[in-house]
Amino acid sequence: MRDRLKKGLSAFLPENRIFMDEPLSRHSTFKTGGPASLFVRVTDVDELRRTIRLLQEEGERVFLLGRGSNILADDAGFDGTIVQLAEGFDRIRTEGERLIVQAGASMIRTAVVARDSGLSGLEFASGIPGSVGGGVVMNAGAYGGEMRQVIEEADLLLEDGSLRTFTCAELELGYRTSVLKRIRACVVEVRFRLTQAPKDVISQTMEELNRRRILKQPLEYASAGSTFKRPEGHFAGQLIEEAGLKGLKIGDAQVSEKHCGFVINRGNATSAEIKGLIDIIQKRVYEHSGIMLEREVIYL
Ligand SMILES: Cc1cc2nc3c(=O)[nH]c(=O)nc-3n(C[C@H](O)[C@H](O)[C@H](O)COP(=O)(O)OP(=O)(O)OC[C@H]3O[C@@H](n4cnc5c(N)ncnc54)[C@H](O)[C@@H]3O)c2cc1C
Repeated sequence: MRDRLKKGLSAFLPENRIFMDEPLSRHSTFKTGGPASLFVRVTDVDELRRTIRLLQEEGERVFLLGRGSNILADDAGFDGTIVQLAEGFDRIRTEGERLIVQAGASMIRTAVVARDSGLSGLEFASGIPGSVGGGVVMNAGAYGGEMRQVIEEADLLLEDGSLRTFTCAELELGYRTSVLKRIRACVVEVRFRLTQAPKDVISQTMEELNRRRILKQPLEYASAGSTFKRPEGHFAGQLIEEAGLKGLKIGDAQVSEKHCGFVINRGNATSAEIKGLIDIIQKRVYEHSGIMLEREVIYL
């Protein structure tokens, strides 16, 4: 069946963007995960639409991948097709105080382009290693900033193949959540409403936030950032530390000693080890504090 799918896809995608048995460890910041049966990279809306339509017609399981910075891929891989927005799907342009960004663009580059255009509002995003599409899905945020504050509207490709513009309110952006947790659609373009500011001021803020990140977060190890959502009125890292779990290891998966809110891969961890550690953390934190930590990381 996958050979047939591959043949169907090659009618409109070049061979060098269709991969069979592609290791997901190459596409996840955790650096774990087995092979995806098919892995396809698309560079524009038309390719995306045709790809999704073909996969739907064939009854194929589909997963949209951004930069893989918030997923944990199974060691057994993914029995289906991964669709990723590739280079070409990452154009950024300005229109006055608006920044118009295709969903495959990285958040970091988007923040840099905003700075270079003298536009303030995306400084918080300058250390978030995901795509703008993934950033909408998660309503990514840091240091008091979040996507919700700067998105004006976004274009989504819906399951029926139509493109629809969602206003910021319609995107239902909440703490690490959005309408995309409820409906199946692909973010294709995002329009940000920013404000003019001197470039050096924007630069200073970005540098300061990144300095704090380097100081506090175990960026020297593979991870997916914060493993858990912040429970109301608490910090996940603090609860984990208070439960005595700092540094706890299963194989090469470890509760970071630098920041307990991060589960890290010290080198050769498997996804099963990471999952095992996440389960233990949830159980032990619950026993210790009565608070059930909710995962931010998405299992694939
Ligand atoms: C070192 C590190 C630091 C981090 N710091 C932060 C932080 O400060 N704040 C924060 O919020 N997050 C942080 N993260 C987590 C992560 O970067 C964000 O959640 C990011 O928004 C995920 O984007 P992505 O493109 O990697 O999405 P992926 O991990 O690839 O996917 C996440 C979800 O989005 C979906 N998705 C991706 N693209 C699209 C699209 N175009 N259309 C529809 N669905 C899509 C996927 O199907 C999946 O469900 C950090 C991660 C790391 C590794």
